[in-house]
Amino acid sequence: MGSGAVVVGTGQAGFEVAASLRAEGYQDPVTLIGDEPHLPYQRPPLSKSFVLTEQRIDELQLRPAAFYRDHNVRLLVGERVVAIDRSARCVRLASGADIAYQSLVLAVGARNRPLNVRGANLDGVMHLRTLDDAIALKARIQAAQDIIVVGGGFIGLELAAVARSLGKSVTVIEMQPRLMPRVVAPVVSEFYRELHGSRGVTVLCGATVTRIDGVGGTIREARVSDGRSHAADLVLVGVGVVPNIELARDAGLIVGNGVVVDEYLRTSDPDIYAAGDCADHPNPFARGRVRLESVQNACDQARSVAAAIVGRPRRYEALPWFWTDQFDVRLQMAGLSQGHDRMVIRGHPELRKFSVFYFKDAELTAVDSINRPADHIFARKLLSAGVVVTPEQVADEGVDLRTLAR
Ligand code: FAD
Repeated sequence: MGSGAVVVGTGQAGFEVAASLRAEGYQDPVTLIGDEPHLPYQRPPLSKSFVLTEQRIDELQLRPAAFYRDHNVRLLVGERVVAIDRSARCVRLASGADIAYQSLVLAVGARNRPLNVRGANLDGVMHLRTLDDAIALKARIQAAQDIIVVGGGFIGLELAAVARSLGKSVTVIEMQPRLMPRVVAPVVSEFYRELHGSRGVTVLCGATVTRIDGVGGTIREARVSDGRSHAADLVLVGVGVVPNIELARDAGLIVGNGVVVDEYLRTSDPDIYAAGDCADHPNPFARGRVRLESVQNACDQARSVAAAIVGRPRRYEALPWFWTDQFDVRLQMAGLSQGHDRMVIRGHPELRKFSVFYFKDAELTAVDSINRPADHIFARKLLSAGVVVTPEQVADEGVDLRTLAR
């Protein structure tokens, strides 16, 4: 028996690789190594229910401890991999041990982009990526009154909704002229600006935090590029992430906007794979290379990696999809809308139930559904199967999406 598969990272992708290897009938040893001190857990609730409710840590776990024992997965938590020795085919742990591999999977994810302004290191400036970050935030948020959220992307807006639901005074500061600008159409941005505004969140677009001031090491106010100061006892930073590429780069693997992989998720070393937030991969729905940050991408890529390791490789060509919950509104996204040249609306923004269908070169490329879960389901079918639909069809509520998707 060989040294089997070694998976670095116990996030969604790493967990799914280990579980899928066993589901695919892989017989050799599987070792799953992560530097966080917890059993693998899901991140999406961290910016939603976990801070808002009494949700317990064990409810976030992807599987209970018994799963790893029962499936013969050796799980090493609180262990950091510091180097890959490709000629010796082993990884080195910070604790000094070497672990040999036949196949190595990098599922090392991404880390939060720091806020580069004066005062960003003060007590009360917080980021959210890990369970430990969420535990610290939950402990802190109750006593806060005035909360500034830096970044009007998904995580920033979810945190703004949670903080406001807890009765806090909340101001969101977004550098771009509109919310979630990278991923949604202006009509969706405007919908969210109105939603947050109607619930009492102050939204400032086209503005940046220029410095954070404190007294005795603890924050008091944030200064904004419009010249005003805002009282703050908590600043929550959600300004995006950077992929963890260092391990791959130092081992001589090709890196770009992530660890560069082919359509089978193989890196430039055919025995080393990458999946999830860290993988810069070719994606047919992006019509090129892309790095995605979603549960769907982490899970589907992990399954493709497991299939390749057991010798049944299949291309990664799953449809990207994503969701975000803010207040009582769920946005579900299917496909990738970047680069669209036409969009049509189905439904009623004023009723908070509508979908935006995006087209490029007359081809449907993405659908964003707000409180319209059925549209999302049928959109996934239409997009996955490449069904030809016209803007006129999808804009017409008399045309049944279910029938089109058949
Ligand atoms: P990660 O989850 O980042 O896991 C990587 C793991 O590897 C981490 O534990 C990291 O510490 C570890 N690691 C890194 N380097 C090493 C090393 N050298 N040695 C050992 N371990 C290492 N997606 C959605 O689709 N919908 C949502 O609603 C949604 N909400 C989210 C809310 C929050 C607060 C966050 C943070 C993310 C959310 N996401 C959501 C994104 C989604 O959770 C991620 O895309 C997904 O978790 C990526 O999984 P991953 O395994 O690739 O990376």
